[in-house]
Amino acid sequence: MSKLISGIAASDGYAHAKVYRLIEPDLTVEQKKIENAAVEIERFENSVKQSLVEIEKIRAIAAESLGEEEAQVFDAHAMILADPDMTQQVEEMIESNKINAESAYHEVTETFIQLFESMDDNAYMQERAADIKDIRKRVLANLLGVNLPSPATIDEEVVVVAHDLTPSDTAQLNKKYVKAFVTNIGGRTSHSAIMARSLEIPAIVGTGNISEEAGADDFLIVDGIEGEIIIDPSEDEVAEYAKRAADFEKLKLEWDKLKDEPSLTADGKEFELAGNIGTPRDVEGVLKNGGEAIGLYRTEFLYMDSQELPTEEEQFEAYKSVLEDMEGKAVVVRTMDIGGDKELPYLELPDEMNPFLGYRAIRISLDQDNIFRTQLRALLRASVYGTLRIMFPMIATLQEFRDAKAIYEEEREKLITEGIDVSDDIEIGIMVEIPATAVLADQFAKEVDFFSIGTNDLIQYTMAADRMNEDVSYLYQPYNPSILRLIKNVIDASHAEGKWTGMCGEMAGDQIAVPLLVGMGLDEFSMSATSILQTRSLMKTLDTKKMEELVDKAINETTTVDEVIKLVEEYTN
Ligand code: PEP
Ligand code: MG
Repeated sequence: MSKLISGIAASDGYAHAKVYRLIEPDLTVEQKKIENAAVEIERFENSVKQSLVEIEKIRAIAAESLGEEEAQVFDAHAMILADPDMTQQVEEMIESNKINAESAYHEVTETFIQLFESMDDNAYMQERAADIKDIRKRVLANLLGVNLPSPATIDEEVVVVAHDLTPSDTAQLNKKYVKAFVTNIGGRTSHSAIMARSLEIPAIVGTGNISEEAGADDFLIVDGIEGEIIIDPSEDEVAEYAKRAADFEKLKLEWDKLKDEPSLTADGKEFELAGNIGTPRDVEGVLKNGGEAIGLYRTEFLYMDSQELPTEEEQFEAYKSVLEDMEGKAVVVRTMDIGGDKELPYLELPDEMNPFLGYRAIRISLDQDNIFRTQLRALLRASVYGTLRIMFPMIATLQEFRDAKAIYEEEREKLITEGIDVSDDIEIGIMVEIPATAVLADQFAKEVDFFSIGTNDLIQYTMAADRMNEDVSYLYQPYNPSILRLIKNVIDASHAEGKWTGMCGEMAGDQIAVPLLVGMGLDEFSMSATSILQTRSLMKTLDTKKMEELVDKAINETTTVDEVIKLVEEYTN
C-alpha cells in the first residue's frame, strides 16, 4: 500500500526514485573488558583498512562528480587514518587497559580532538579536529558493523531523505543523481530549501517524520509543487505523476518563450526581475531564466565553502567573475550574513539560545571589522568590472548603517590613495529584514541609496516564528495584513526620497504576492532563478491601476490571510 506524507513545498518539480537515507547511525561506544588484545588489535586494524578503501572510493567518485577541489578533503582523511602515532596509541591502550577497540579508538581520538580544538586561534588546527571527528565516525561504524551514509558516492538516481540538510550537505549533492530531497525539519525559507531552488531540484521540507517513514528499499514520488510525498506508489500513481511532470515541463516551455522579453504588466509598466545567487556558478541559471540583474548575492557561501576565511584575492575573483558574467547588468552583493542557521566552524561563533536573534550578519562585521574590511576591499576592487551595488544585512539601527558605511568609505579612500581603480558609481543600500527598520524606513530612506526587503527574516521577526521550525511554519504569512503594511511603508518611504526598493526574500517570487507587490510599486523583484519566468508570465496579465486598488483594499479592509488571498483571486481572475 502506498502512503501519503505532506510537508512544505520548498522547490518546484516532480521526481520518482529510490530512497537514499542521509541519516547518521547511532555510534555510541561502550567500554568493555576484553580477554585477547591481539584479536581486538586485529579488529581495529581491519576497520582502519576497510575505512581507507572506502575513503579512496569516495574520493574517486567525489572527484568525478563534484570536482577535484571538493575531493581533496578526503586526502586529509586518509592521512589521519594512516597516522602511525595515533595507531600506536590505540594499540597500546587496547593492550595495557584490556579494553575493546571501539572505546580505545574513541578515547585516543578524543584526546587529539580536544588538543586541536584548544588551539582556538588556529583555523588549521580547528579543521584538523573536524577531520578527525569525521574519520572517527567511519572507523567506529566499521567496528560496530553499521553503515555510514556518504552522499558524495551516490551514483544512481535517488531521492535523499534526511532529518535536515546543512548548506554544506546540500552543496555536496550531485544534481545528476539526486532527483529530489525531503527532510523532517525546515521551512520554505530555510537555507536547504533556498539551495534546492538554486540547484533546481524538487524539495519538500518540514515533513516531521519522513526519516522514520521512508526505508532504504522504498521508492518515493516527490511532488515539489503541492508538497506531497508518496511512499511506494502504485502503478496508477506513478503514471498520474508522470503525466503531471510532463505537463509541468510543457508549462516551463511556455514560460521559456519570455526569456528575452522585458518584464511588463498588461498596461505596459516595467519592473525589474532579478535572480538570487549563492555562488558565481549560479549566475548561469539566472541568465538562462531571463534574469535582468542579480538582486541578492549571498556571499556567506564563499565563507562556508572554505576551510578558513577567504582571502581578499579569492573574494575579488568571485565578485569579479559575477560582475563580468552579468555584462553590466546590476549585481547587488550582500556582505557576509553568517549566523542564524549559517555556521562557520573556523569562526567559533558562541552557542546561543536564539541564534536568529543573536550574533550574526552586520553585527559580526562591525564587531570583527578586519573580516568586513577584507570583504569591502575585494568588492571595491571588483567594482570596475560591472555595475556593483552593496548592501548590508540585518541592519536594525541607523547607527549600524552609518558605522558600516563609514568603514566602507575608509576602505574606499585607502584604495584610492594606493592608486587602485574603484568605480565611482556604487550604490550602498540595506536589507530591510528587521521590523524596527521597516517602521523607521522614512528615516533610513534619507541616508541609503536603496532598500531590499528580506521577507524571509522580516516575516519571522514580525510574527515571532522561527523560520526553521515546522511547528510554527503556519505563521510564515507573507500575506498577513501586518506584513503588507510594513512592506508598503518601506516602498512608499523610499519613493518619497527618490530612492528605490527591491525585495529579495522568497515572497518576491510568490505568485499570490506578486499582484500585491506590483500594486505597491515595488521596483525590483529578486527571486530563485526558477521563479523568474513564471513571474514574468503572471505580470503580463496584471493591470497596475487594478493592482493599486487591490492593495488599498488588502491593507485597509482585510483582517486575515484568507481574506487577502480571496481578494487577490478576485482581482486577478
Ligand atoms: C531574507 O531574510 O529574506 C533574505 C533574503 O535573506 P536570507 O534568506 O539569506 O536570510
Ligand atoms: Mg535574511
